[in-house]
Amino acid sequence: MCRGADMSQVNMHELSVCRALVRTVDETRRQRGAAAVRHVTVRIGPLAGVEPDLLRFAWDAATLDTPVAGATLEIQQAPLIVRCRACGATSAGQPADLRCRACHSSATALESGDDCVLVGVDLLLPAPADLC
Ligand SMILES: [Zn+2]
Repeated sequence: MCRGADMSQVNMHELSVCRALVRTVDETRRQRGAAAVRHVTVRIGPLAGVEPDLLRFAWDAATLDTPVAGATLEIQQAPLIVRCRACGATSAGQPADLRCRACHSSATALESGDDCVLVGVDLLLPAPADLC
């Protein structure tokens, strides 16, 4: 089966994540007095529960008819890092295996990997000539 067929419908979860992002981005745009938004960068951890492909797909639907429409979305993958409560080591985890790499203890806490954060907004600001 064609994997692309799964993308024909916008996923409701990713759409609501996108709408929240659009609100935050538009708030930033208004505060800075920008006319438009060119580029938005988000960082998503493997355990954030957000599928990057679905998020990218939902972006166009979420920005439609908003001041953020036309902005490109860049998705960065946040690393999955765990800190061990037994030996104190930090190591890279896998979504299905969060054990410490150093001592194999399963008493680990997530340092990074379950977040979905807005890391950058590139605004279209008025040209400097307009300010003269
Ligand atoms: Zn350990």
